[in-house]
Amino acid sequence: GSTIGILGGGQLGRMLAMAAARLGYRTHIFEPGAAPAADVAHDWTQAPYDDAEALARFAAACDVITYEFENIPAPALDILSADTPLFPSRRALEVSQDRLTEKTFLKDIGLRVAPFAAVSAADDLPGALAETGVPAILKTRRFGYDGKGQARVMAEAEAEAALASLQGAPAIAEGFIDFSMEISVIAARAQDGSVSAFDPGQNVHSDGILATTTVPAPIPASLRTDAVLLASRILTELNYVGVMGVELFVTPTGLVVNEIAPRVHNSGHWTQAGCAVDQFEQHIRAVTGWPLGNGERHANVVMENLIGDDVDRAPALAAEPGVQVHLYGKAETRPGRKMGHVNRVTGPAD
Ligand code: ATP
Ligand code: MG
Ligand code: MG
Repeated sequence: GSTIGILGGGQLGRMLAMAAARLGYRTHIFEPGAAPAADVAHDWTQAPYDDAEALARFAAACDVITYEFENIPAPALDILSADTPLFPSRRALEVSQDRLTEKTFLKDIGLRVAPFAAVSAADDLPGALAETGVPAILKTRRFGYDGKGQARVMAEAEAEAALASLQGAPAIAEGFIDFSMEISVIAARAQDGSVSAFDPGQNVHSDGILATTTVPAPIPASLRTDAVLLASRILTELNYVGVMGVELFVTPTGLVVNEIAPRVHNSGHWTQAGCAVDQFEQHIRAVTGWPLGNGERHANVVMENLIGDDVDRAPALAAEPGVQVHLYGKAETRPGRKMGHVNRVTGPAD
């Protein structure tokens, strides 16, 4: 097919649409709100996810549908995937929409995750904290991102107030992992089952939002291999097609999986400057049945997000050698909003 439908009109959808255009595809974006991706796509549907007619029209106009946003309601998925292939699959989407399902899946395939327990009401707290220990983190099961929908529990006495701050949303409690570093692996799986992973990057967060990703992550080669193998396990178990982001904690006893994202990932933006085929093209290749790029890295790169007013630094950054600037075309700058990023090439690949 030649038209790719993309659910979600944010910066990830925008960069997917640009990669698709480079491979000769048309893109059609579905997004309920105003969208910076719209102006780079060929078509754009602005409608809510409960507009059955708009969804059906969108699906009929697309040869394949993918997404940059995982919180698509199940009834919308029924309509979207009735007659049009959806990649990654509905199962991958549903597993990762809910932290409880996601953690259970990861644990069941033998990977290490933080101890966790479901918390639907204050009554569940004592039992859950007995499972996780204290300190713990309460996280809403759905819709959280950039550290939103989370509350730390440093002592058992704080637990009820922490839960109340989540305003009644179903939650999980997670034991606190004493990590030395956060890394992520961006991996892709093609329709023929082949898997290709990019090198793990080191992620540094600020106020719960990704600030920088550095490749290579300063970890031993054996740990890099562990990370890549573990990611590839996840993709294969899900019979996954597309790019996935896998966030990991590095601990003295090995890697612990934090969460997975069934889509291109902010911590994979460095691939735009570090690889012949970046994560966006890799994803488009996977969902359209092309061979995958091999993921090889030709440069050391530091990716820095431009959050809120950081975007004002873009012209100065652009004047530095080896810096690639990406701006998302968002109409309004707001504190905490991802406005763009820069990839700084720091040398040839180690
Ligand atoms: P994202 O924007 O990456 O989707 P998110 O809102 O889904 O983030 P998480 O990745 O679950 O949230 O958590 C945000 C950050 O909080 C993590 O990157 C990590 O720094 C810290 N964190 C989360 N869970 C734990 C844990 N169990 N132990 C220690 N730190 C944690
Ligand atoms: Mg997340
Ligand atoms: Mg995260």
